[in-house]
Amino acid sequence: MLDLDKNTDRSYNDLIFLKPLFHNKIWGGRRLAEEYGYDIPEGAVGECWAISAHPNGDCEVASGAFEGNTLSELWVSHRELFGNAEGDRFPLLIKILDAKDDLSVQVHPDDTYAAEHENGSLGKSECWYILDAKENGDIVVGQNASSKEEFAAMVEQGKWSELLNYVPIKAGDFFRIDPGTVHAIRTGTLILETQQSSDITYRVYDYDRLGDDGKPRDLHLAQSLEVIDYAQKAPTSGEITAPEIDGKTELMSCKYFSVEKYEIHEAKTIAQPWPFMCISVIEGEGTVCADGGNGVEHRICKGSHFIAPASSGSLRFTGTMTLITSHLPHTK
Ligand code: ZN
Repeated sequence: MLDLDKNTDRSYNDLIFLKPLFHNKIWGGRRLAEEYGYDIPEGAVGECWAISAHPNGDCEVASGAFEGNTLSELWVSHRELFGNAEGDRFPLLIKILDAKDDLSVQVHPDDTYAAEHENGSLGKSECWYILDAKENGDIVVGQNASSKEEFAAMVEQGKWSELLNYVPIKAGDFFRIDPGTVHAIRTGTLILETQQSSDITYRVYDYDRLGDDGKPRDLHLAQSLEVIDYAQKAPTSGEITAPEIDGKTELMSCKYFSVEKYEIHEAKTIAQPWPFMCISVIEGEGTVCADGGNGVEHRICKGSHFIAPASSGSLRFTGTMTLITSHLPHTK
């Protein structure tokens, strides 16, 4: 049984560092070890689940008073750490993806469709920060048909290169993938993904590849046709257009989460007014100290991920670093 008694005599306000989990994928590579220094399993590793309480990968707390507990256990037993936010599961999932090969072309439903057709599940909104891309690399975001009928006809005729919207990418680009957006990560790309903690994915196309069993992987074309947003305008670039103000760039906000980028030069204090905040270091190294953390200074570097709980107070950073942060869109 879960033993959290040792924590009940005082409130916990320090940062919560998590142990990332790794998933082998046929399209994955070795860059999560080579470039992020993670201790990953053998073979092709496609995904690092850095902050997750999803049943398919529930991260353990790495240190401190809650060491050894999973994030889902904290969500259930210590909701005060998360500002008493509502919901039956920790709502966000932060991943790093290493796509050595192309991923299949997919689309996610919105909440309404998922609730009706997927046993009350949530839909999925996600977004991608491009950590690295190969020369002349690209990505699929959006599609070019204006109706379900046109989309179905182009699929029937195999006109994939006309149908899919390919966008050239470089490190530092950012894409918002709302439900209904056709999307695919392509070869040579490293991505930091922030998403709702949900797994409902419909596969539209798999480049006619065969799986390990020699057969093509299942497609979900009928569901895909139902959920694709045909009115959406496909992007031509992932260039960030939001201004950087005092080191902070607001990348996106939707009803499920907000995502920001911070550049730290020598020292910076970041306010923490949210029920909780997820922080990933994507470049550089330094230290972080939470106002509520009894003066404990944590060393952090590229590949560190942690949660600032509700009562952490402001976060004081030193060093030279780039951070991606996310939080619920509303304050406590
Ligand atoms: Zn997706």
